[in-house]
Amino acid sequence: MLVALDSPLLVIHGGAGVERADLSADDEVAARLALESALRAGHKELAGGKPALDAVTAAITVLEDAPQFNAGRGAVFNHDGKNELDSSIMDGASHKAGAVAGVHRVKNPILLARAVMEKSRHVMMVGDGAEAFAVENGFRLVDPSYFRTEKRWQQLQRALQEEREAEAKGISLVLPGKAYFGTVGALALDAKGHLAAGTSTGGMTNKRYGRVGDSPIIGAGTWADARCAVSGTGWGEFYIRASAAHEICARVRLSGQSIARASEGVINDDIPKAGGDGGAIALASDGTWSMPFNTEGMYRGWIGSDGVPHVDVFRTPAPRNTR
Ligand code: ASP
Repeated sequence: MLVALDSPLLVIHGGAGVERADLSADDEVAARLALESALRAGHKELAGGKPALDAVTAAITVLEDAPQFNAGRGAVFNHDGKNELDSSIMDGASHKAGAVAGVHRVKNPILLARAVMEKSRHVMMVGDGAEAFAVENGFRLVDPSYFRTEKRWQQLQRALQEEREAEAKGISLVLPGKAYFGTVGALALDAKGHLAAGTSTGGMTNKRYGRVGDSPIIGAGTWADARCAVSGTGWGEFYIRASAAHEICARVRLSGQSIARASEGVINDDIPKAGGDGGAIALASDGTWSMPFNTEGMYRGWIGSDGVPHVDVFRTPAPRNTR
């Protein structure tokens, strides 16, 4: 599909772990509506002349608040039945970045990642320290039960059961990709031609204590520079080993590859060859973008200067603008 678009432009994803068998018609409608409101919220910022960072923050905040996605409310549970949230943000123009990992009580981790970027001397803060920094900066903490949804709880119970059955057979269970992830992310290109990227997640169902995936790691799950921005969703260990988000942008910058070729090469060739799966969204400063994924579906959407949101879930084929 070819689409000619002018900036401003916003591209989002709601995770590559979506499966038809696990998605009722009502759930799909709710997810599509949430994606549309995230697109509208980000577009409002861009249309008002705000920077790409504000659009990314606005869109991700909406997705974190929507229980359909594995970020903020509705995040997946770890092995101990807790929600441990990770998030990161990067500004392509300044190369500034902020990230948080392993927080339990911050309603919108993307806002805290941005505060780390703008109000601290650091790039990444984790756990209790990140939450202390949140309180110092005026964030109101929520009770951990805020993040709980019954659907995610049942996913954990199924994962624990599968693990017990595998152990009983003496098999060491390798976490499959399906229904285990669903991170959210956003990329924006503002009127000045600046890019920003952000990602937020609960990580992977049944992850062990302290496990951190790619989403809060700058260069793995999130990257933005002057020409290229990426947010990933998938089996985080593989994205970290591939430095996936940075690798895509490095291919654009150093090898002159198109955003589509670079992102498909990393996401649909390198990651599966290594044994992982997932997807990503990638946006270039010339307004070309791509949304590769190798799972059954990936919640995704985009909105251009006309303000009309476009969303999709399953393979249709996945759209890309290769103007
Ligand atoms: N990439 C995330 C992680 O590994 C999971 C996801 O995309 O949903 O933590």
